[in-house]
Amino acid sequence: MKLDATDLRYVTSEEFRVLTAVEMGSKNHEVVPLTLITQISGLRNGGVNKLVGSLAKRNLVSRVQNAKYDGYRLTYGGYDYLAMRAMSKRDTMTSVGNQIGVGKESDIYIVANAEGEEMVLKLHRLGRVSFRTIKQNRDYLGKRKSASWMYMSRLAAQKEWAFMKILYEHKFPVPRPIDQVRHTILMEFIDAYPLRQVAEVENPGKLYSSLMDIIVRFAQAGLIHGDYNEFNILIRRDTGVPVVIDFPQMVSTSHPNAEWYFNRDVECIRRFFKRRFRYESNLYPRFKRTLSEGETDFKLDVMVEASGFTKKDQKTLDEYMEAVREGEGDNDSGEEDEEEVEEEEEEEEVANQQEEVEANQHNEADSTGGRPLSLSPSSTPR
Ligand code: ADP
Ligand code: MG
Repeated sequence: MKLDATDLRYVTSEEFRVLTAVEMGSKNHEVVPLTLITQISGLRNGGVNKLVGSLAKRNLVSRVQNAKYDGYRLTYGGYDYLAMRAMSKRDTMTSVGNQIGVGKESDIYIVANAEGEEMVLKLHRLGRVSFRTIKQNRDYLGKRKSASWMYMSRLAAQKEWAFMKILYEHKFPVPRPIDQVRHTILMEFIDAYPLRQVAEVENPGKLYSSLMDIIVRFAQAGLIHGDYNEFNILIRRDTGVPVVIDFPQMVSTSHPNAEWYFNRDVECIRRFFKRRFRYESNLYPRFKRTLSEGETDFKLDVMVEASGFTKKDQKTLDEYMEAVREGEGDNDSGEEDEEEVEEEEEEEEVANQQEEVEANQHNEADSTGGRPLSLSPSSTPR
């Protein structure tokens, strides 16, 4: 999906009211009836018809005809628009540039503020994976089920924001968080290569120990990254210093499976260094020893909870992620939107059977599609 910066300017205030009405209606309606949109927006009936039509033309909403009534749904595009508009009102961002990443559960764009400073906008897209498995397993979404992709994407962004802020404030090497609205996070742009793309480093041993040090610092402050791999570690282009990103799956060291998550993070790095740099070391952190050797007096896991991302939010998100992991069917095209949810759900069955295969492939596949780069001065930029 493309974000269109010009749309940011050319939505009239009446269209905006209608769009907001569709968003509000989505909280308890899978398809928001026109009458409700009219009611919420406080505009005249005939007027709303036209306005919603023009929003549909730009894919900010989509028209849905069902047996009972016709109505509209907010699209990813519409939700993106609302988030970006809110940020541009706050002057945190003013223009949208190139897309630099497509994950299974996020899109990443370069954006800029009025001073032309480049930043990264991460849009969470949790509904890309079917909700069917979750609906089967659990009913915790309750009334919100209909808007679950919006709700879950927003929770993921809020969680990532809460962690990024607290980590940044405690001087962990993470991007500076700038703003958070709905399902999006605005952060500092790091001029770097993902470790995945780095073919050679001058001193693998040094990088290895700085990455293990970060794991240790995380743990002693009460946290485990949970997805600490070559995709989520950026290597600064100028200094070669690592920066860690991607926090929606962070867990507390008091989590019942904390040790398992910790070991998995450590193993990821060991395996990567062995494969990529032929570097092996007997030195690597062990969970219990790491904790006994020096816990900090501040506990970031506790601080995150206090920051507004509650235990309940955490639980909802954890259950979602667990359910996705259990029944994951990855059809990775990255192009689906909610209009295709129905089809996607049917494909889920088939995809489930491929889960094993795809999970294995994921480790090997280069999601960036690029070749590993050498970190020499002559290497090509991003
Ligand atoms: P996902 O959850 O989809 O894995 P990530 O947060 O890991 O999303 O980001 C995906 C990719 O986008 C990263 O591998 C990196 O290349 C790029 N990226 C993300 N955040 C930044 C940033 N702050 N600065 C530069 N590049 C970034
Ligand atoms: Mg990532």
